[in-house]
Amino acid sequence: MKTVGYAAHSSEANMVPYHFERRELRSNDVAIEILYSGVCHSDLHTVNGDWGPQPYPLVPGHEIVGVVQSVGADVTQYKVGDQVAVGCMVDSCQECDQCHNHEEQYCREGMTGTYGFPDRISGETTQGGYSKHIVVREEFVLRIPEGMDLSKSAPILCAGITTYSPLRTWGVKEGSRVGVIGLGGLGHMAVKLAVAMGADVTVISRSTKKETEAKALGAKGILASTDEEAMTAAANAFDLIIDTVPTAHDINAYTPLLDVDGSLVIVGQVGPTGELNSMPMIFGRRRVAGSLIGGIAETQEVLDFCAKHNIYPECEMIQMDQINEAFKRLEQGEMAHRFVIDMSSLDVA
Ligand SMILES: [Zn+2]
Ligand SMILES: [Zn+2]
Repeated sequence: MKTVGYAAHSSEANMVPYHFERRELRSNDVAIEILYSGVCHSDLHTVNGDWGPQPYPLVPGHEIVGVVQSVGADVTQYKVGDQVAVGCMVDSCQECDQCHNHEEQYCREGMTGTYGFPDRISGETTQGGYSKHIVVREEFVLRIPEGMDLSKSAPILCAGITTYSPLRTWGVKEGSRVGVIGLGGLGHMAVKLAVAMGADVTVISRSTKKETEAKALGAKGILASTDEEAMTAAANAFDLIIDTVPTAHDINAYTPLLDVDGSLVIVGQVGPTGELNSMPMIFGRRRVAGSLIGGIAETQEVLDFCAKHNIYPECEMIQMDQINEAFKRLEQGEMAHRFVIDMSSLDVA
């Protein structure tokens, strides 16, 4: 199947239109016409080569929402016209303990990412959502609950599940004290989801500049990490801190904010964090952990949760040809919302 998208041809190059082929449908495949595609900070990191060499040309995008266009002979869960979604992965071994445990993101053989990974059967490079169509095996297709606004749902597929999974894993409930470091794409979803779970949420940011935005999302307020007095006063104040900062940073300033047995979970930055001071860990049995997206079942769960609680990411709709500008704005700093590409703006001709 011929399709068109936007690809990076090297780590320095701008994103440009790119014509390529999607595979012919296998018996368990679903072909999707993509309507909206979220712009994740990982897309930028990946095309820039920040996480290692990439198989260019590369079409990023792993927050994908669209409509089923056709299905393979053995597909039972989806039919033509269904509203569906695809997130950060498109395949896994389906046989190991992690896959059986519905945590395909931790597949022992490694999950297949939505873009930049070798397909498990053909070996060709997977290409993501900045395109008109995608073909994905049925098991990795999500359902968009009826009545949900498709144009605002895409960022749930990465920003949503990435923050929902640790909130669930660490048992956030009514009255839990949750801190969210950073108020970007991930951070703003962490606030909304934790608030919906009944938690008492505080945003932790460099300054109180985004206080109005934080409160509008349901947070109590902002704790400014540069305000030493406020940071000291907030010692032991949190059961869980979700750290969404996407770049290298020192986490030692945040660990004393945790109460005994509290955890700081890193979901933003991938890579070294600098030297960890074990003092707050030992004197308080505190933990520093990480978390990667969530399994397919849990991704469906967060979509259903958002539908039920009427939670949507804050989206700024852009045209496909505005992507390079959007990447620049992402690089310049956090915005308490997500860019979403209206794929109808990409002319197939
Ligand atoms: Zn992402
Ligand atoms: Zn597996």
